[in-house]
Amino acid sequence: MTDAGHGPLAPTDRRRILLLVGPVGAGKGTQAEALSRELGLVHLASGNLFRQALRDGTEMGERARSYMERGDLVPDAITIDMFMAELARPPAKAGAILDGFPRTVTQAEALDATLAARGERIEKVISLEVPIEEVVARAAGRRVCPACGTPYHLSGDPPRVPGICDKDGTPLVQRDDDRPEVVRARLAKQVPPMLEVLAHYDQAGIVARIDGTRPADEVTDAILRALRRDTGAS
Ligand code: AMP
Repeated sequence: MTDAGHGPLAPTDRRRILLLVGPVGAGKGTQAEALSRELGLVHLASGNLFRQALRDGTEMGERARSYMERGDLVPDAITIDMFMAELARPPAKAGAILDGFPRTVTQAEALDATLAARGERIEKVISLEVPIEEVVARAAGRRVCPACGTPYHLSGDPPRVPGICDKDGTPLVQRDDDRPEVVRARLAKQVPPMLEVLAHYDQAGIVARIDGTRPADEVTDAILRALRRDTGAS
């Protein structure tokens, strides 16, 4: 990992870049929203960005479409371009919570290199640890607002009115890939590269493993404690 201290930016100009890692249903969306509020950082979720690009009919969305429709990872080159452009936009000026990217070691290396060229680096990789069977059960209860992307959970984080988004009143939907049989197949593909990404950041000693089985607010507190423990130490 490149020493961020030798980059072109003064240390005070450095953005806070946090990375949330965990399988589908581990609570990444919920934690990212809570951390975004607590820390004033934008939440950048690669899946949401791709879905938005599809809705907007952008060129990048069209390049990603066939892969997404098959449930495959979008090729690294397209994904890296998309995410780096997003990180350069004004909402990420103060920093960002990355969710869903990087998902391969190639993406992680590209991200590290781009940040290092700006004198930046990932401050902390937060790994939300939840057993596979619980992940499958949780995914089955996930719902999302198709208009604004707000995530909900039928038992853990229900909307005020069943089936309706609190923010904009849109009927919530279950994403096809949250269905149990799809989740199992997806985990089999998703977990090995995720473990490789964690191993990559373990080498830099920046991974915080957080028990993700507890209530959402306790998980948020544990993450904030892990971040505070390292403030001033890195
Ligand atoms: P998600 O909402 O994170 O499950 O992402 C939805 C879809 O977007 C995935 O099934 C992939 O097709 C694509 N995608 C999201 N993030 C990435 C990534 N880091 N690398 C490649 N494809 C991605």
